[in-house]
Order: sequence, then structure tokens, then C-alpha cells
Amino acid sequence: MIIKSINPFSQEVIAEHELLTNAQLNQKLLLSEKAFINWRSTTFQERADKMRKLASVLRINKDKLALLITNEMGKIYAESISEVEKSADNCDFYAEHAEQILRDKIYDTPFKSMSVYDPIGAVFAIMPWNYPFWQVLRYAAPTIMAGNVTVLKHASNVMGCAKAIENAFLEAGFPEGVFQHISIEIAQVEDVIASNIVQGITLTGSEGAGSSVAAVAGKHIKKTVMELGGSDAFIVLDDANLEKAAKVAAQSRMLNAGQACICAKRFIVTSKIADEFVFLFSKNIQMIHQGNPLREDVQMGPLARLDLVETLASQLKNTLKQGAKLVIGGEHEGCNFQPTLIDFVTVDSTAFQEETFGPLATVIRAKNEEDAITIANNHKYGLAAALWTEDRARAYKLARRIEAGNVFVNSLVRSDSRIPFGGIKKSGYGRELGEIGIKEFMNMKSVIIE
Ligand code: NDP
Repeated sequence: MIIKSINPFSQEVIAEHELLTNAQLNQKLLLSEKAFINWRSTTFQERADKMRKLASVLRINKDKLALLITNEMGKIYAESISEVEKSADNCDFYAEHAEQILRDKIYDTPFKSMSVYDPIGAVFAIMPWNYPFWQVLRYAAPTIMAGNVTVLKHASNVMGCAKAIENAFLEAGFPEGVFQHISIEIAQVEDVIASNIVQGITLTGSEGAGSSVAAVAGKHIKKTVMELGGSDAFIVLDDANLEKAAKVAAQSRMLNAGQACICAKRFIVTSKIADEFVFLFSKNIQMIHQGNPLREDVQMGPLARLDLVETLASQLKNTLKQGAKLVIGGEHEGCNFQPTLIDFVTVDSTAFQEETFGPLATVIRAKNEEDAITIANNHKYGLAAALWTEDRARAYKLARRIEAGNVFVNSLVRSDSRIPFGGIKKSGYGRELGEIGIKEFMNMKSVIIE
């Protein structure tokens, strides 16, 4: 079977990729098994040398790789460059810190006792197209530094990126089988999960994909980490710096053409400052120039696929019918969807209830601070949130009450190699990045010596 890769801006077919047969897939899994036997016994120094080399391969080739990202999924070239650089930085971070994070932990007992961290086998990753390099290197760098190997099933519209990442690992000197991209269809996913070498599964994607994969993993008693959708609240209180909040609001909603799990999606604003905030927010959105993602003067490219445009258009249409008011935008053509702002959105409307994966900002007016927190928490998702207030002591108290895996006060929600990242509720479970990220797929073994 062949998968076609389509450039979302030009709609041209840019490549065709062949899927693996079951026999080819089995060969790849056998190779993982062989590779694990050697890789698990390498030293941290050997792994770190190769991981640093990988960072350097990514940096040296960043122009070529960024072009591939932009051509396959449509984000603007500058964002593609930043993504490759951030991925390389994550390789360096784990090369530098893995050994220290995974040192034995000694307990205070009358006998000698400790925890040691052993690798477990292959981690099977199912990854999305929105950050085709970052999402992969985010899990792969810690996984491989831990002594595990990995197989990646990437989203079908970014197969070129998957191949390029595999080539970068080989160029950096990693033995064959340590990192493998497997081009498979959904029907083959269970075979991979069931195989003996696979001992962990990590998925970033929609709630539907997460639920289905977690169910199969449960059947085979395999551990999972799930990084699913989000409908992040961006809460603006009476005393916020409105100029700054409005600028970051536009950035947070519109980055990657609105296609990130941590894009702010629900702008919950206290009524006293709502008119002024909406005015400033719309001014910032108006400045975004949409067009060819390869042009330097363009700040927003197309959405990655036509079906994503259709879903967003229908969410907008329903929400307007349900009483919301259009402030700016709303039009779409091909994969281009205008940066759009709607006001007076209610908690029972479509755009509030569902994840909106594109450049649609929704303003919900809250009576006061208490009402704002209640509205923010009144949601099935709990990935991240932003809170805007000049009172830092109050910010800390309110941050503790927000139901999310990450809360940012007066700044843009973003991921950082040093800090754990992940969600609660239907946004998933488990954590990536930081110290905990590398420990998710390890056997924390207790050793007691009398
Ligand atoms: P999906 O969740 O369908 O795709 C993400 C990955 O999961 C892809 O590799 C996909 O493969 C795979 N996948 C999908 N269904 C299954 C399944 N049943 N079993 C195993 N693997 C599966 O996302 P979409 O591309 O359809 O995007 C739709 C929505 O998902 C977005 O609107 C957004 O809400 C959410 N999403 C969230 C992301 C996040 O960062 N949290 C990232 C991307 C999407 P394939 O491509 O072959 O279908």
C-alpha cells in the first residue's frame, strides 16, 4: 500500500511512501530485539557521544530538514527551523544529564538498599504531524539515553520527516535498530504492541487515538504514556497587564497555525476588562500575515490537511449559531484558514466543549476571578493553562486550583527539556521531559543486600 504526501499549501503530491508488509514489520521488530541486547549494555558516555553527534547532525542539516517539515505539514519556515534547533537542544540536554538523573538511589535502612534504573526494551511511539521533529526527539532522546531502543509510527502525512529522523540517527553513528521508523497502517498497531520486545508505548495525538491504543496496551499489559488533546484556558484577571496579555494571547493561539496541544484555546476574561482585552487581542491578530509558509514576510501558513479545515469551519459555524459574535476572520480557502476571533462564547457551545485545532480564538466573559477559575476547570481536558495577573502571591494560590498539568503565570505556555510536561483528565497521563520523563519507561528495580 502507498501513502501520498501532499504539500498543504500547493496541494501537490510531493512523495509517495510504501507501507511495510507484516513480514517486513516482523523483521524490523527482530532487529529491535537484537539491537537492544547490545545497546542496553553500552555506557552512558558512549550513548552521550552519539546523542551529541545527533544534535550536531540536526543542526548542520537544519535548513534542509526545516524545508521538509514546511513542505509536508505547512508551518512557516522560521518555526520549522526553531523546531529542529529545539529538538537538537533536547538531545544535548539528555546527553548531559541522563547519567546523573539515573544514578542509584540509596535508602536509609539498617541493610544496604537502593533503587537502580534498568532499560526495559523497545518503546513504541505513535506520533502526530504538528511538530514532526520535536514530538519525536522529545521522547526518543531520553528513551535511547536510558538504554532502550525504539520504533516510531509517525503520522501518515509526515513520513518524509520520519525517514529523515531515522537517517539522522544512522549518520550520528547509532547502531541499526536502535531507532527505527516503521511505516505501518493502524491495523498493524496491535501486532507491534503485542510483540515481546515492545515494553512501553507513548502516544501523542487525539483523544480517540489515545483511547484506542491505551485499550490495546491494557489488553497486553504494557505501560503507556498519553499526551492527548487540550483546550487550554488563558485566564485574564482585572489587574493583568493587558497589552502584554493580548500580545501573548495572539502568539499562543496562532503559533503553528493554531495546531498545537498547548495553544491557548479558551480566553476567559473578567467582564471589567473584557472589551479592552478583545480590542487589543484583535489588533494583534490583525497583524498576522497569512500565506506561503516559505516566505519570510508570512507569519502563518496553511493547516496541515483539508479535513482539519473542514472540522474547524464546522466548529466555528456551530458556535456562531449558538450565539457567539464574530470579531475578525472566519473565512477559509483550500488549507488556509483566516486567523479568527469570536467573542461571547458560552460554556455549552461547540468551540468551548471540543478541541479547536486551528487559528480560532474564543473569548468567554467571566463575572469575576472565582467565575473565571470555575469556567477554566469546567472542561474534560487538563493539559496546560495561562494565568494573567500582576499579583504574584494570588497567582500562586490560583495556579494551585487550576486543573491542568502545567500552569504558566504571565507568560506563553511552552515545553522545556528541564521541566516535566503532561496533562490530566482527558489530556492524558504520564509525563515527558525533565527527570521524570526519562524514568517513565524504565524498570525502577529495588536491590537489597544483606
Ligand atoms: P490522530 O490522533 O488521528 O493522529 C496522531 C497519530 O495517531 C498519527 O500517527 C495517527 O496515524 C495515529 N493514530 C490515529 N488513530 C489511531 C489508532 N486508532 N491507533 C493507533 N494509532 C492511531 O490525529 P489527527 O491527525 O487526526 O488530528 C486530529 C485531532 O487530533 C486534532 O484536531 C487534534 O485535536 C488532535 N491532535 C492532538 C495533538 C497533540 O499534540 N496533542 C497532535 C495531533 C492531533 P495516522 O496518521 O496514520 O492516522
